[in-house]
Amino acid sequence: MDQLANCPECDGLYIRNAFRDTCAACYKKEEELLNTIYQFIRKRQNRMATVEQVTIATGVSEKQIQKFIQQGRLRVREFPNLGYSCSGCGALIQAGSMCENCLRGFEHELHAIKEMEERSKQANQEGNSTYRAKKSMS
Ligand SMILES: [Zn+2]
Ligand SMILES: [Zn+2]
Repeated sequence: MDQLANCPECDGLYIRNAFRDTCAACYKKEEELLNTIYQFIRKRQNRMATVEQVTIATGVSEKQIQKFIQQGRLRVREFPNLGYSCSGCGALIQAGSMCENCLRGFEHELHAIKEMEERSKQANQEGNSTYRAKKSMS
């Protein structure tokens, strides 16, 4: 749904929708930055460039480049060294917020927590008959 919001880049008022999280002027500026980045990495010899190298070559800040990748506006599948840090271990990733390893570890942990909760719930119910009586009444 469209709504009036403040642009996070320039603080100007704009209509926010699903496609834009900045105002039209900033969006256009970002498109130009994207173009600059693409012009650089499209060259064969720059295929293996890192975010740092792109920053040096294009003048676009690392933060901005990482934001583009995270938003999916900069497609980096062909560029193995472009990406941003996993929120868990800091490894280079190109999608989501965590690397495969951390995601797996995270799921494992969630599972363990759930199991623990399940077990303590069971123990509670077995040991606490008043709790069960109350529950069956309602
Ligand atoms: Zn703006
Ligand atoms: Zn990780």
